[in-house]
Amino acid sequence: MRIGAIEAGGTKIVCGIGNENGEIEDRFSFPTEGSERTLDHIIAYFLDKGVEAIGIGTFGPINIDPASELYGYVTTTPKPGWSGYPFLGTLKKAFDVPFGWDTDVNAAAYGEAVWGAAKGLDSCVYYTIGTGIGVGVYAEGKLVHGLVHPEGGHMLTRRHPEDEFEGICPYHEDCLEGMAAGPALEKRWNMKGSELPLEHPAWAMEAYYIGQAVTGAILMLSPKKIILGGGVMQQKQLLPMIRTEVQNNLKGYVSSDAITTNIQEYIVSPGLGNNAGLCGALALGWAAAKNRIS
Ligand code: ADP
Ligand code: ZN
Repeated sequence: MRIGAIEAGGTKIVCGIGNENGEIEDRFSFPTEGSERTLDHIIAYFLDKGVEAIGIGTFGPINIDPASELYGYVTTTPKPGWSGYPFLGTLKKAFDVPFGWDTDVNAAAYGEAVWGAAKGLDSCVYYTIGTGIGVGVYAEGKLVHGLVHPEGGHMLTRRHPEDEFEGICPYHEDCLEGMAAGPALEKRWNMKGSELPLEHPAWAMEAYYIGQAVTGAILMLSPKKIILGGGVMQQKQLLPMIRTEVQNNLKGYVSSDAITTNIQEYIVSPGLGNNAGLCGALALGWAAAKNRIS
């Protein structure tokens, strides 16, 4: 089956073609511009591709409530030209195929559950720690949507005792994203995250905040796997530091070997690596195709 996939990020859009085994056969990426121009590029890419379904994992906030008149819209983003834009509807007018539609992080969580680090499990939580922080939640074999969709990147945090940084979230200042996303690292330390040396205190502080969030996710959702992706997680020293923070926070209270002894297999990098986002969209497209067939 030829399935289309769209990974729509705030800075770039990746379009691709793949199959039901999670194999990407073609991909094309371009910068995210205004909504109409961007959609023109997406439509042009898929015109001669003969796809049988398309999955979209996108930046948000978006409307994912099928009962709503605004289903398929981008809602309140500050990104110029995107707020109130019918992203899904515009594509539906161009292609008569089933569509999957969800947040970029829910898509990534789903892709990881179908083909990646959480394969065979019925729950996982996926974090991206990049330009922003986003969280996708897969529980009891379904993506969690709820009232709007999970927004765990904006959870409130307990401040590190040595941290005087005010935070950069335009809504909450010192929420998780405001304290620990890539741009927060850069502003606090006056240096790009990728240039901060390995032994810099930035990393202990970063692990402190992410560890707090992951601890909360474990306590609230009891997921069977936690997956940490995004540009900041390219700092390989962070993952073991975050695992230690989580163990120190929980102090043995959650009595599972997955946390007390095998945490290196529990809090992990994306199994699909840099393809997590696009494969997630592909998995949404595949699910949409199967729904139409069944
Ligand atoms: P996006 O979130 O826009 O989809 P990324 O996940 O690549 O994109 O995240 C980009 C952010 O990650 C930027 O703030 C960048 O500074 C930061 N980043 C990228 N590479 C690294 C690195 N090696 N170490 C630390 N931070 C990084
Ligand atoms: Zn916030």
